[in-house]
Amino acid sequence: MINYDHIMVRFGELNTKGKNKKEFIKTLANNIKAALKEWPNLTLENRYDHIYVGLNDTPYQEVMERLQEVSGIHALSLVYRCEKDVNAMKENAQALIREEEGKTFKVKVKRGDKTFPLISDEITRIVAGHILRNSPDLKVDVHNPDILLSIEVRQEASYIFTKTVLGAGGYPLGVGGRTMHMLSGGIDSPVAAYLMMRRGVSIECIHFASPPYTQMGVIYKLEDLLKVLNKYQPRIRLHIVPFTKIQEAIYDNAPESYCITLMRRMMFRLADALTKRRNCPIISSGESIGQVASQTIQSMHVINAVTNTPVIRPLATTDKVEIIKISKKIGTFDISIRPYEDCCTIFTPKAPKTMPHLDEVEALEKKWDYESLIKDALNNIEVKIISLEENKDELL
Ligand code: ATP
Ligand code: MG
Repeated sequence: MINYDHIMVRFGELNTKGKNKKEFIKTLANNIKAALKEWPNLTLENRYDHIYVGLNDTPYQEVMERLQEVSGIHALSLVYRCEKDVNAMKENAQALIREEEGKTFKVKVKRGDKTFPLISDEITRIVAGHILRNSPDLKVDVHNPDILLSIEVRQEASYIFTKTVLGAGGYPLGVGGRTMHMLSGGIDSPVAAYLMMRRGVSIECIHFASPPYTQMGVIYKLEDLLKVLNKYQPRIRLHIVPFTKIQEAIYDNAPESYCITLMRRMMFRLADALTKRRNCPIISSGESIGQVASQTIQSMHVINAVTNTPVIRPLATTDKVEIIKISKKIGTFDISIRPYEDCCTIFTPKAPKTMPHLDEVEALEKKWDYESLIKDALNNIEVKIISLEENKDELL
């Protein structure tokens, strides 16, 4: 039986990144190392086009599954590293193909090392001929083979494999900068957070809590959600902003139908101030066009008017069905649907404005001193670090 000894990690989209490529590969290698920490026998080898994970007898299934969650990986192949000798290639290819089920096969050769004396076609013919002679039950089918046997000849060795799976795609976490992500505890915002991370952007989270209207349970829920997201980012900072006084002031001073618009403008003011304090260049959220009254285009315009900081909404055009699908895939769905009272649901007006006007909203806000309340809230933020290691509370 052939002992697969490496996992070949392919970069995909990274290849378009020219001179940044080295930095990308370094970041990806570090992220892979962190993701595979629980398997001490694995080794990592950075090469120009691939990263190789040496298995050293570690069972590969779980390692492959874990790698599929690391962003910036296009595909993963389970490979056998073989000498750069055509006789060794054909013997090992034959041994390897015997472990596969199927009646037809195709040999595909890629010669990355152009100094290798045989060209791809010659290697293909030699290896396929050897398999045909030794496995009379197998036939060649170049269009739709049951078994695709790939050989890649590289500088350091050749690689033989039949199993390739897709990775998460995107970019390695960290190469895309940082965002202040608005995390509510619903279905959408954890999915939006994942999509940001998959694009290489690391996240800090901001949550607006309104005790006693919202319970401590919300915070536990956020912690659980972030523990799931720790798969993609091992350490996440959560800022919990006290929002009760701001919310009460809104309801004391504004007509009910405008409360949600005003509340969300306050949220964005707070998020904006925190992005500046934390040196995050952007804000992100789980908003999706038209999903609720505060997410119509007109509402978003009025709400967004309080900040110049770019706001990225990865789910802007995503349907709820699709969002739910992603949340199930990444494992946040079951936590998100746990019942809880969000600050938005507590005070939900019967008929919220779907077409708020900026001048009306601005006039309403002049009626009370919200700025000192915002300052107060910013001075009383509680910070939690949610990490794979342990959950440490940390003061700002
Ligand atoms: P979600 O499913 O993420 O709760 P939603 O569809 O319920 O989203 P809203 O409650 O209108 O929509 O919120 C839209 C977005 O605003 C959320 O995805 C989140 O990014 C942000 N948000 C809402 N409430 C809070 C909160 N209490 N703390 C932080 N961010 C919030
Ligand atoms: Mg919500």
